[in-house]
Amino acid sequence: MMSIDVALKMIGHAVDPLEQVTVPLAELVGRRLAKDLIADVDSPPHDKSLMDGYAVRTQDLGVDAGRFEVVETIAAGDVPTRTIGRRQTARIMTGAPLAATGGDQGREWVQFGHLDLKPGHHILLRGSAISAGRVVLSAGHEVRAMDIGVMAEIGCADAAVYRRPTVAILATGNELVPFDRHPGAGQIRNSNGPLLMQLAQRISEDVIDLGIARDDADELAERCRLGLQSDVLILSGGVSEGIVDLAPSVFRSLQVECVFHKVSIKPGKPIWFGAHQDGGRRKFVFGLPGNPLSSLVCFRLFVCACVNRMTGGDAGWPAMVPSRLSKTHAVRGARPTFWPARGTVDGDAVLRAEPLPWQGSSDLRCLVDANGWVYLQDAPGEYRAGATVPFLPFADVA
Ligand code: AMP
Ligand code: MG
Repeated sequence: MMSIDVALKMIGHAVDPLEQVTVPLAELVGRRLAKDLIADVDSPPHDKSLMDGYAVRTQDLGVDAGRFEVVETIAAGDVPTRTIGRRQTARIMTGAPLAATGGDQGREWVQFGHLDLKPGHHILLRGSAISAGRVVLSAGHEVRAMDIGVMAEIGCADAAVYRRPTVAILATGNELVPFDRHPGAGQIRNSNGPLLMQLAQRISEDVIDLGIARDDADELAERCRLGLQSDVLILSGGVSEGIVDLAPSVFRSLQVECVFHKVSIKPGKPIWFGAHQDGGRRKFVFGLPGNPLSSLVCFRLFVCACVNRMTGGDAGWPAMVPSRLSKTHAVRGARPTFWPARGTVDGDAVLRAEPLPWQGSSDLRCLVDANGWVYLQDAPGEYRAGATVPFLPFADVA
């Protein structure tokens, strides 16, 4: 069976970045830059004072500096009008531009005692943080809230990023009823639909809810056709090998080419991924396993990788952090496993992960106590308390 790693590589090969769009500064957080951002000004734009105090020529400061003539006061926002001559000084505030040295004249006086100052003390030189023309943020950088300050400083009113995909969500299964209905005999509520809608909203331009389709080839085909109007169709359920698992054959009938079907991962093994050429556009289809936690894990790993690639990133693994298992934990199945866990940072700043009691891939309740997954790659096996394992924190998305 295909490994997670190979599946991610196949997504990387199948998917290209979408076209570029221009987005205003206030909406750039979370978007990946398509072009370098270059400074149009030096920062600071002038040699500036880092202190409130007096600007002097250091060569005038002898053992006992003595009386200095104050020629003007320079606050931030002022432009100095006077030069500072021998035994002259300007009162200067933090952030104010430095006066030139030279000339003389003035009426006000200030007395300095012994001062041990070198030229340049308490001065930030023009362009020392950023020089005009320099690349400040490179193409490929994912904009964070903390980047917005420097982007404003270099006058970036908007920037080129990659368009986010439009997404359609379709839940499938004869047993499903909408969440606002009481399930009858043999029925359950559709939890994947609302869950996947929320997850998709955080990474896409627009999400369409295609509701619930019965396990019926014609009905599935009709809904999938609608879904193929979006860049990405995410269907849940009906991708395994039961007699009502009709999704793969329906995808085939709609000319969606299978890129992979089944990955060695737990939960999530039956996942199906394919591509459809629609004129000049390439659409992507995920058939996620119906069990809610399988859908969730497959979304985090594979759907996120696909959207990441569409928006200019790569289809790699999500970032995991090393953690120590807080108790011994055995994995029975033969597939690499994402197990719901609670990570806490203890007094010595070490992340400890506690694998939580979990009844299997339909147990959504256990996620309420979890804040991530431990990734148990060597399955089956017993992981001892204290063993180091990767921890995948729940993110904004999944
Ligand atoms: P399937 O992948 O269709 O074989 O479904 C696997 C399991 O997930 C079955 O127990 C389904 O009842 C359940 N399931 C499928 N779709 C959903 C859904 N949208 N919400 C909650 N559970 C689901
Ligand atoms: Mg089903």
